Amino acid sequence: MPSPAGHLLAGVAIAWAAEAAASARGRRGGPPTDGAKPRQFTPLVLACAALALAPDLDILLATHRTVTHSLGAVLVTAVASGALARALGSPAIATGALCAATVASHIVLDWLGRDSNTPRGVMALWPLSTAYFYSGVDLFAEVSRRYWKPDEFILRNALSVAREVLFNRRPVAPPCLLIASGETTTKIEGEAGLGGPSQELALSFALEISELTGVCGLALDTDGTDGPTNIAGGIVDTLTVARAHEKGLDGHEYLKRHDSLSFLQALGDVVVTGNTGTNVCDLNLVYIA
Ligand SMILES: [Zn+2]
Repeated sequence: MPSPAGHLLAGVAIAWAAEAAASARGRRGGPPTDGAKPRQFTPLVLACAALALAPDLDILLATHRTVTHSLGAVLVTAVASGALARALGSPAIATGALCAATVASHIVLDWLGRDSNTPRGVMALWPLSTAYFYSGVDLFAEVSRRYWKPDEFILRNALSVAREVLFNRRPVAPPCLLIASGETTTKIEGEAGLGGPSQELALSFALEISELTGVCGLALDTDGTDGPTNIAGGIVDTLTVARAHEKGLDGHEYLKRHDSLSFLQALGDVVVTGNTGTNVCDLNLVYIA
């Protein structure tokens, strides 16, 4: 599935293309441009960007790619935005068509993207049909919005980008270094061992990349203190799990017990910087050779 950024850019691109076409035609009746030059972030362009993302709000309803990713949603958008445009004194048909096109772009992009969750694809023809449609083209690597926790989100999407670079050499060819930052979290329930969110992210990453070659991941806190530890984070690669097996360590068990420090320390894979005195962010690096 395309990323939220991909959907958003599609919405902006459609709005700008419509504005450019309207100004090229130089006549009334095209999408309203508010007198602005093309490629500006007018309220209509921002609305299109939001609408291109909107179908994924269904995740809030614990469902995904059903009625919000359908012909019905496109038609509802067309009617509602057209009516709103008319109330605001803007061209109703052109605005309705433009807004409907941005929602349709989301459905088409999802249809073209890779989807490993069943039922695969989108319920594109609802209310006429509740069948799911899936192109199988896999044009876009899978990214995830199903994982709300920042660490899961970073992990899944970092993996998707790494696979895209490794197997398809895009958006850049290896060797390359991917840099991400944010605030990693973890939820502790019950007994917990030693560790912190960045160390858990490093351990999770190691478990996911063990089938690959030439990938190395580092996750650390820039203040040098990950969770309640004096460890900054962890550094892992595609051989981490194999090295752990040789020592009789099962990474999944350590992850379950929130005992990532013990696992990484046993392998010599912790990163120790000492207290850096500055807390910029949680830093995540992925090197692909
Ligand atoms: Zn979607």
